[in-house]
Amino acid sequence: MSDWLERGWRHVWLPYAQMQTAPLPLPAVRTEGSRIHLADGRVLIDGVASWWTACHGYNHPHIREAVAAQLDSMPHVMFGGLAHEPAYRLATRLAGMMPDGLERVFFTDSGSVAVEVAMKVAVQARLNRGERGRHKFLAFRDGYHGDTLATMAVCDPEEGMHALFAGLLQEHVIAPLPRDAESEQVFMALLERHAGELAGIIVEPLVQGAGGMVFHDDAVLRRLRAAADQYGLTLIFDEIFTGFGRTGTMFAFEQAGVVPDIVTLSKALTGGTSPLAATVVHRDLYEAFLGEDPMKALMHGPTFMANPLGCAAANASLDLFETEDRLGQARQIEAWLREGLEPCRGLPGVVDVRVKGAIGVVQLGRIKNPVGLRERFVARGAWIRPFRDIVYLTPALTIAQDELARLTGAIRDVLAEG
Ligand SMILES: *Cc1c(COP(=O)(O)O)cnc(C)c1O
Repeated sequence: MSDWLERGWRHVWLPYAQMQTAPLPLPAVRTEGSRIHLADGRVLIDGVASWWTACHGYNHPHIREAVAAQLDSMPHVMFGGLAHEPAYRLATRLAGMMPDGLERVFFTDSGSVAVEVAMKVAVQARLNRGERGRHKFLAFRDGYHGDTLATMAVCDPEEGMHALFAGLLQEHVIAPLPRDAESEQVFMALLERHAGELAGIIVEPLVQGAGGMVFHDDAVLRRLRAAADQYGLTLIFDEIFTGFGRTGTMFAFEQAGVVPDIVTLSKALTGGTSPLAATVVHRDLYEAFLGEDPMKALMHGPTFMANPLGCAAANASLDLFETEDRLGQARQIEAWLREGLEPCRGLPGVVDVRVKGAIGVVQLGRIKNPVGLRERFVARGAWIRPFRDIVYLTPALTIAQDELARLTGAIRDVLAEG
């Protein structure tokens, strides 16, 4: 075992891991495209794209060059009182990719904080307009919006990860997604009952990611838009997972023809290069922050806001979406995933197989030992991380057909063994 690993293992605390029983993580030394090279020489094909971030594969030369150039000239400078081209260009480009009206961009450094900013904007906009008492959100079962205290409170409360903290969290209204007549009735009743205290509705459009890769159709988003309009609520689409081609379109909401009031972005924003997030706000909300009163300003400002290295990476990532056919690749991956995962349907324990864009999911009745399952994938050269009751693939959009076939083959083989 390498010296740094052995020593550091006594000090590092891993995410969502029981440290007493967690196996030693695999030391990674190099990444390239869809491959992760381990210290012992093994090479894994990456089925996760490092939590859905590395949409162009790892170490794309165009992003690497942009970040290297930025590193040479100015790795960081504060965003208060100073301007830099990477951030201003990025804001202009992100606004240009959104429907008309979604034009004001607030940069932060993680997805959770981007969601917190969205929540603060929705609440403070109302306060600025003299409307009091509307500081709650309607969110959904199976939803996931982050790990910070404010965002945990709009996650699925039944979810094991966060239930623990119930007493510490703000109380919001958690509804079923209005998928059918029955759930729509429950949703509308909750909305009716709580409308006076609500500031907004928050949802991950089309795919609820960390809550278990649960899909819904575009009609749900149109219902949410109509409900938000009816009750004067801010509609927040959290595209942190779905954004940048993951569902087959640049943003998932495009498939519904619905325009939200706020969009949150992170994960693939920098092509998986460095942490950066953005909250894109509609001008109607933004205008509530204008006036003579300094207290009407948006009260937020992270230290590393709009970090130039991150913005340079994000601009380079957007270049690649323009110059290479990522969305076409996402649709191609969708076909490959269907072909590769459909045969899992008949295997022991499999309750569902579903595919949307570059997201492939095999849902099992129960996963007794997710770590053991992961190790069996690694033995087949595949980096796949089962969680809750699912085994899923969210590869880089640039993954080659034979690489993806090795991932789907590993899933079929391992599940066939039972
Ligand atoms: C990952 C994720 C977040 C949180 O982002 P972090 O960068 O981990 O804070 C929020 N919303 C969605 C939909 C996510 O997938």
